[in-house]
Amino acid sequence: KPTVIITIGMAGAGKSTFVQRLNSHLHTVNSSRPPYILNLDPAVAHVPFEPNIDIRDTVDYKQVMKQYNLGPNGGILTALNLFTTKFDQVLELVEKRAETVDHIILDTPGQIEIFTWSASGAIITDAVASSFPTVVAYIIDTPRTTAPATFMSNMLYACGILYKTKLPFILVFNKTDVASHEFAIEWMQDFEAFQAALASHPGSRDADGEPTYMNSLMNSMSLVLDEFYKHLKAVGVSSMTGDGMQAFLDAVEESRDTYEKEYVPELGRAR
Ligand code: GDP
Repeated sequence: KPTVIITIGMAGAGKSTFVQRLNSHLHTVNSSRPPYILNLDPAVAHVPFEPNIDIRDTVDYKQVMKQYNLGPNGGILTALNLFTTKFDQVLELVEKRAETVDHIILDTPGQIEIFTWSASGAIITDAVASSFPTVVAYIIDTPRTTAPATFMSNMLYACGILYKTKLPFILVFNKTDVASHEFAIEWMQDFEAFQAALASHPGSRDADGEPTYMNSLMNSMSLVLDEFYKHLKAVGVSSMTGDGMQAFLDAVEESRDTYEKEYVPELGRAR
């Protein structure tokens, strides 16, 4: 059975570029078994790869906006809802191809919360995860997450998505050609290193030299996140140069095992 990779990321993190790179990498590794790609972003103007299934072929979100008198976000969400009502047919198409592919890639809408906090996103995620081994790839803009507070916010966001999907999770530190992700790995492996980075940051002490509220809150939070990090894999990639793509695929393989061990028994209980 192929593995489904659901790519999620904040706008600008490089999700589309990542999917494009992954696509070309998989074509190179085994040209006879290229990935099967689903584009779920109704509002994307240009997709730098050829999706096998494209939401834009079924729904025109600009038409939806007009018809239902919605703004852009409402239009995108409604387009995704309409598409989701037909998702059983989409799954049938995917299942027909399951014998001939190793990876199915889902590219989600550019506005992250439209997928992660909508009923449609949950329905699509559950539907694919009940049919195929599924992993979430959370794309991070590494150069923009080097400040301790930003890093922590980003990790808390990732944690929220993990709770919602309950699927094996890979943190993909993108744009390593601009900034190495080593600082992130260090902070994730050693919360004291993270706390030291926090302490040396401006604003960590108040006028009396006492730790600020933000600083002590983040210190406590880093202990909680320490637990969260233990359940994830983290890889650094450059979607620009292709660096780290193989490490990402290895992480996908390992996550498949986690899926079998943890998600499949959970599915059994739900039924
Ligand atoms: P999306 O909104 O998450 O789909 O992001 P895009 O794929 O459109 O990328 C956002 C911007 O980041 C674009 O200007 C890309 O060229 C750039 N970008 C994406 N990946 C990388 C990378 O690995 N390295 C560098 N230097 N830039 C990247």
